[in-house]
This record gives sequence, C-alpha cells and structure tokens, in this order.
Amino acid sequence: EELLSRIKNVVANGVGVFNTATVKDAKGAIIIDVDGRELIDFAGGIGVVNAGHYPEPVVEAIREQAGKYLHTSFNVVTYEPYIQLCEELAEILPHGEKTKAMLVSTGAEAVENAIKIARQATKKPAILCYTGAYHGRTMMAMTLTSKVSYKYDCGPFAPEVYRLPFPNFYRYHGKRDLDKFVEDELKRLHESALNLVDVDNLAAVIIEPIQGEGGFNPVPQKYLEGLRAFCDEHGIMLIMDEVQSGFCRTGHWASWQHYGVQPDISTYAKSMGSGLPIAAVVGKAEIMDAAASGSIGGTYIGSPICCVAASATIDYMKTINLNEQANKIGEIIANRMKKLMKDCPDIGDVRGIGAMIGIEFVKNGDPRQPNSDVCGEIVKGCAENGLIMLSAGTYKNVLRILSPLVITDDQLDKGLAILENEIKKATRK
Ligand code: PMP
Repeated sequence: EELLSRIKNVVANGVGVFNTATVKDAKGAIIIDVDGRELIDFAGGIGVVNAGHYPEPVVEAIREQAGKYLHTSFNVVTYEPYIQLCEELAEILPHGEKTKAMLVSTGAEAVENAIKIARQATKKPAILCYTGAYHGRTMMAMTLTSKVSYKYDCGPFAPEVYRLPFPNFYRYHGKRDLDKFVEDELKRLHESALNLVDVDNLAAVIIEPIQGEGGFNPVPQKYLEGLRAFCDEHGIMLIMDEVQSGFCRTGHWASWQHYGVQPDISTYAKSMGSGLPIAAVVGKAEIMDAAASGSIGGTYIGSPICCVAASATIDYMKTINLNEQANKIGEIIANRMKKLMKDCPDIGDVRGIGAMIGIEFVKNGDPRQPNSDVCGEIVKGCAENGLIMLSAGTYKNVLRILSPLVITDDQLDKGLAILENEIKKATRK
C-alpha cells in the first residue's frame, strides 16, 4: 500500500500498472511480493521470461561480464559478445543462404530498424501492416500498431503506412470454412494493389505470424504461404515480428519455423535476453547489408551485458530443451481449457501454437460479440488468488498465457486450477 501511494505520487499516470503486487524476489515461475505473498506468474513480464525468472546461468554470465567492462559502444570499439550473439542468431534463425543480424535494445527499436532496412533495400517507401497488430510505441512502431487506445493524441503518425484486416479466422469466418476464408483474404491482399497502395511503391509487409497483443491470433498457414508468394511476385520484403512469439514460446526459436515460411527480415526481443533489454533484427545477408553505414546504430546497440545475457539464454534454452517443454506445457493448457470450454459457452475459442495459448471470451457463443467484462473479472479474480494473468485483444476479451516455460508441473497445475475456478465463477454470473 505504501509503495502504491508512492507510485501515485511520482510515477506518471500514463504508465499503466496491471497488478498491484510489488516484487521482492522472483525465481522460475514464482514472484514473491514485498508482503511475502507467493504469486504464480502466467504473464512472464509480458513474455520476457520464457527461460524463467532469474535463470542461474544467465545471471552468472551477467556477473562475469560485469567484472570485465560495461560499455564501449559497438559503433566505437567492438567487443566479442556482440559478434558471438549475431553468430548464434544466424545459426538458430537462418534466413536463406547467408544470414546477418544487428542488435538494439527493445522490440520497438527492432521494428523501426527492420523498416529502415527494408526501405533501403528496396528504395521504396510504403509499408503494409494489419489490424490487431502491435509493433511497439516509438513513432513508426506506433503507427504500425493498430489499437487506437495505444495512440490517443500521439499523432501525426508516420506517412506511407497502409493497413489490411488481419485474417482472423475465428472472429470473421462467418459460415466459411478455412480454405474459403483464406481464399477471400488472399483476394483482398491482391486487390490491395488496386485499391490501397501501388505495389511498386511497397517496401515491406510486416506481420506477426501469431499476433500477441492483438489476441493470440495465428495467421492461417495458407495465408502466410500466399503472402510470401505475393511478396516474391512484387519484390516486397516480408518482415515477421517475432518479439512476443519468439524464443521457444511456440515450440520454436521463431513461429515462422512452425509455418515453414521464411521471412526476409525478422525481429526479436523480450525472452531473448531473459529480462535484459536486448533485441535483434535478423535477415538475409544481402538485405541486411543494404542499410548504409551510419543509418542503423546507436549508443546502446547491444550492450555487452545484454549480449552475454542473450547468449547464455540461448545456451540454457538449448540445454534444457525449452522448445520441447513449450509443446508439453501448451498441450496441457490447451487440453484443460478445451475441456472447460465444453461446460462454458462464454469461452468462444481456445487456440494457439506451442505454449502461446489464448482463450477468447464471447457472448452467446458468437465470435462477433466479444465479452471483455468477463475477461476483466477473471484477471482480477486470479490476481486476488495469487495468479498473475494478462488479457489481450482489441476488446481485451482474450486471456493469454505467457508463463515461464520452466514452470513445474505442480505450479502449472495450481495456476490452471485457480484460472479454471475464476473462469467458472465469472461465467456462472
Ligand atoms: N512487437 C511485438 C509483437 C510485441 O509484442 C511488442 C511488445 N509487446 C513489441 C513489438 C514492442 O516491444 P518493446 O515493448 O520491447 O518495444
């Protein structure tokens, strides 16, 4: 209570806070707050701690690096941890024959740089993005972000950004099966060349293969394949934003590996650094090399401490086979939620890839009637009972599970039991 009143006094109101707990310690999937309460974490710091809170090998790597040097700026005096991390990224995230990478500090910055690189590679200005998209809060990233409440009074926004409806099958399929829906949405994509933006001016299409903030909406397989073909046909860069879906969340290093559809450029952040601010733009070497010297960079482009944290994270993820663990956890969550769905008509959909599982709440079983009230009540009820949950979606009617993937069976079981109980309570009303 005392800390909360200090927050009110000195922290700007616009800095939203979802949960009233204040952390004292955190380990694995558990956060202990300053009142000594033990909370199960299903939010993972918004998808940042896939490898768990305070993973020992990562903390050790940070300690060791802190004993050597903290900063030179890679633009001034280079250091090996940066080079090593880029080599590791190229190995686990190959983009065609030869892959190159650049590092920054946040997801939004990675997106900004991906756009700059695509524009320099194509010498074209326009960018196509999607409804429901979230790409960050810097000016270009915010322009690409769809949800209006993230951007009230923040404009004017960046020019030459065009938006198509995301192929959200669950919400918009109506009476169409998946094949017909995808056929219609691909037609819309091709028509955009006639009624939205001249493809000859289009530098890139940016898409989250499974939308995060937008409500854990996976793009249909055939749509992504069709989008790849569309980009190839017109010489457009396909950028995939994997900031939330990357680093084992979907059982792969990136969700595009699940689809088997390769981007030209892709972006990573969040769980890549286990909590340290590091992000990457990875892409085909010839495209990455199109950016002129001096046009991408900055003081903190991949701080040494963050680089070693990311390398240790990758190593730890490989050692404990976190991708396999994501599939295991995802199956448990999806099965339990699908079972609950049978007795609970307010749950309209349970969907996702690997451990990126979303639960969508609707009224009267109708995908077009989002039920945000019930979703908000569940998040609140969970918080009161020791489970940290996050919602997502344009209507805040989707529960998203982003628990650390190192969560124990017992913790997962306890967390899901709290969640099931709160869902039953809220939907029975
Ligand atoms: N892209 C996606 C898909 C994201 O989910 C986010 C963060 N939620 C971002 C970009 C922005 O990342 P950051 O908050 O690190 O700037």
